[in-house]
Formats: sequence, C-alpha cells, structure tokens
Amino acid sequence: MRTMANRPILTADEPILHQRAKKVTHFDASLHRLLQEMVDTMRDAPGIGLAANQIGVPLQVAVIELEEKVTELVNPQMVRASGEVIDWEGCLSIPGFVAEVRRHARVTVKARDRHGKEFRVKGEDLFARALQHEIDHLNGTLYIDCLDSLEELVRVSEHPSEVEEPTTAGI
Ligand code: ZN
Repeated sequence: MRTMANRPILTADEPILHQRAKKVTHFDASLHRLLQEMVDTMRDAPGIGLAANQIGVPLQVAVIELEEKVTELVNPQMVRASGEVIDWEGCLSIPGFVAEVRRHARVTVKARDRHGKEFRVKGEDLFARALQHEIDHLNGTLYIDCLDSLEELVRVSEHPSEVEEPTTAGI
C-alpha cells in the first residue's frame, strides 16, 4: 500500500472540534482518500479512533480500529443504546490526559460505508465507547464537555499503571 501523508491532529482549542460536521453527500475518490489519510493518521498517533474534524475536515466521517479491524463510518447515527459503564477515556485531541467518562455499555449505530451503502454495526465495551466518542466528535462534543468539572482530568504520566488500560487509548 502506498504511504500517504499523515495529517496533524487538532487539539481541543480549535473551533472546528466544537462544531457539528456536515453530512457526506458524495461517496467519491476524495472521500476514499480522506478515509485513508484518517486511518494512517490514527495509526501513527497511535489511537483507536479518529473523526474527520480532528484533522480539520468538517465532514461526518470517522474511523475506528480495534483488534485489527477497521470500521469506516460515514454519516453515523446512534439508533440504539443500553446499559451504562464508567471507564477511563482519552482523546487524541486532548493529549496527555484521561478521565472517567460515563457511556452506554452497548450501542447500535447506523452509518454508510465508503460507497454510500447503509449498514448497521453493534458494539459493546471499548468498541461501544469508541463509537459514542466518534459520534460525539462529529456533533462537536468532546468528552471533556461531559465532565462535571475539568478537575476530573487526570494527567496520564501521573498514573502510569492506568496507561496500560486499553480504554485510555486515544480515540
Ligand atoms: Zn477524540
């Protein structure tokens, strides 16, 4: 596979991360190029998920990679959610920090693939957390917006044992 240029990941102070991304209407080569750049950038970070607005593209596109499986989501929407779980969560746009974030334990997401075909994907555990995290990104919401206080943020370097937890991976 040809190596593509990675894109810089924007941090939480950028306005584009606080705006709702636009729906994709053209499932063309430029979308496919964007998806490839996003996967390359996510792997390089490294992280387990990335939303297009994190690299400055205001479109409803996200990628997740878990257990060597890449899920490409275009115009994703949560259609079902159940259960509740609190766990550590990090974000590539908030480097160096994690926090305990309450999420649904199981979700079903409806999305389109890179060709515009609709599909549904079910997730639980970390995959469910990543799906919710990415959909939040595309709606202009960061996990820090879900916290009662920014004092709940924990510096990763202060808690090396927790860095090993998979849920602290950047999403
Ligand atoms: Zn994130």
